[in-house]
Amino acid sequence: TTSQASTNGTFVKVNSANVRYTETAIESDYYYDKTIVSQDGSGMLSASPVKVHYQFRTKKETGKVGIMLVGWGGNNGTTITASVLANKHNVTWTTRRGVQQPNYYGSVMLASTVKLGVAEDGSDVTVPFNSLVPMVHPNEIVFGGWDISGMNLGDAMTRAQVLPYDLQRQLYDLMREYKPLPSIYYPDFIAANQSERADNVLKGSKQENLEQIRKDIRDFKANNGLDKVIVLWTANTERYADIIAGVNDTADNLLQAIASGHSEVSPSTIFAVASILEGAPFVNGSPQNTLVPGVIELSASKNCFVGGDDFKTGQTKIKSVLTEFLVNAGIKPVAITSYNHLGNNDGYNLSAPAQFRSKEISKSNVVDDMVSANHLLYKKGEHPDHTIVIKYVPSVGDSKRALDEYVSEIFMGGLSTISIYNTCEDSLLASPLILDLFMVTELMTRVEYRVDSSANWEPFHSVLSILSYMLKAPVVPPNTPVVNALSKQRAAMENIMRAFIGLPPNNDMLLEHVTK
Ligand code: NAD
Repeated sequence: TTSQASTNGTFVKVNSANVRYTETAIESDYYYDKTIVSQDGSGMLSASPVKVHYQFRTKKETGKVGIMLVGWGGNNGTTITASVLANKHNVTWTTRRGVQQPNYYGSVMLASTVKLGVAEDGSDVTVPFNSLVPMVHPNEIVFGGWDISGMNLGDAMTRAQVLPYDLQRQLYDLMREYKPLPSIYYPDFIAANQSERADNVLKGSKQENLEQIRKDIRDFKANNGLDKVIVLWTANTERYADIIAGVNDTADNLLQAIASGHSEVSPSTIFAVASILEGAPFVNGSPQNTLVPGVIELSASKNCFVGGDDFKTGQTKIKSVLTEFLVNAGIKPVAITSYNHLGNNDGYNLSAPAQFRSKEISKSNVVDDMVSANHLLYKKGEHPDHTIVIKYVPSVGDSKRALDEYVSEIFMGGLSTISIYNTCEDSLLASPLILDLFMVTELMTRVEYRVDSSANWEPFHSVLSILSYMLKAPVVPPNTPVVNALSKQRAAMENIMRAFIGLPPNNDMLLEHVTK
């Protein structure tokens, strides 16, 4: 089956009365422990443990799956497509350090492990993250997509200047076969400088554009014999769309606004709506507010997943680790100052103020949950200073530089300053996240749950907060807390997948070692 192929035979089988393997699915009984806290008149907090019985059902077969990337001809789009081809065909390349092998480093699903349990001698047994439940392997994904630049992917890969020449040389002929579909271009939403490459754009009204994108998804599915398609936005950062009552605040208003060609409906929102209407999950890898309230409502009413926003790669990933460490250590960050420069087309686009503003917003909120969780350090509403600067420096290309300074108050009025300087190929950090977002989203299309055995099976909420680990500004279901702390986000993914196979959450108590 797909699942066995994808996990090299390491697919896990659980021996428990709580787990049933049927021909097509894995079903589990799971007891979710939570603690309800209330306060009495005297201020005393009382904590009551509660168990909630869930059942999960995970279909085993992934079927044949495809990804459609918006912005396919960009740095991320070409890098991920070429890298999957290199892995699939085992293309090696030579640099001055010798022969290099393709890999999936940077993908949490493909290149990291989770603790399954302990062996009889008490030692940890770890398995690849993607082997807990059946998951798609990237080598099986069919790639397609759109770009406002009509360049074939071979030339677009050359233009991106990300992968080493000897690898590009060998992949060129395969990549040249791919040509992005014409896309939606409303110049008002991305930087004016992008008009230089916009030679592959759809004509017509917003309604016609929506219908064309829907048709593209249907055709891609039919032409490739696919069971499902996931659409992911990795096109340029757009400016924010204004949220206007009567325009994009509800699903009906949004559909009406598209029909009447309202100017505040962005290309990315049209892609999201088209995907939802075709039953194709949509993930936004850029910072803008594609998932306006009308999109969220539409996704819920159609039971079609959406996720976003903005790939969490270098600087922000470190920030969501370091701030958690400091605040949880009882140390009080008072100023976080982040500066980047980069020279790729993303940087060129972000050199325009309205597009930079989208990035500034998505980078700004990443410490909020950690700060508000420690009322000993921060009064209500108090925040560290947090400043974000991005500059375009063409000569560094895709090799982004990030400089961060964290100033924190320590014991007895002392100050600690940590400075971090990070250099990294931007697209090599972001591309594996596209695979993780794809793999986890695809998994969720096969999972249903119910809270008692008489209720109906239902899918998870249409807004996929389980994707938060990969995203800078996670979009979550209405009235749900946002978690930015990286270790919590990873634990959530891991423990939810464990629940699908009836295993308790992992903890680090090591009681088998510390008790007699
Ligand atoms: P890029 O500029 O190389 O690629 C974007 C592509 O999108 C271009 O080929 C452009 O022609 C195309 N495009 C623009 N508008 C389009 C539209 N309406 N429809 C279809 N195609 C369109 O940028 P990149 O480095 O690949 O980054 C892509 C996005 O991912 C950016 O918004 C960036 O902010 C975001 N992102 C990147 C990283 C990273 O580390 N690389 C991290 C977080 C977010």
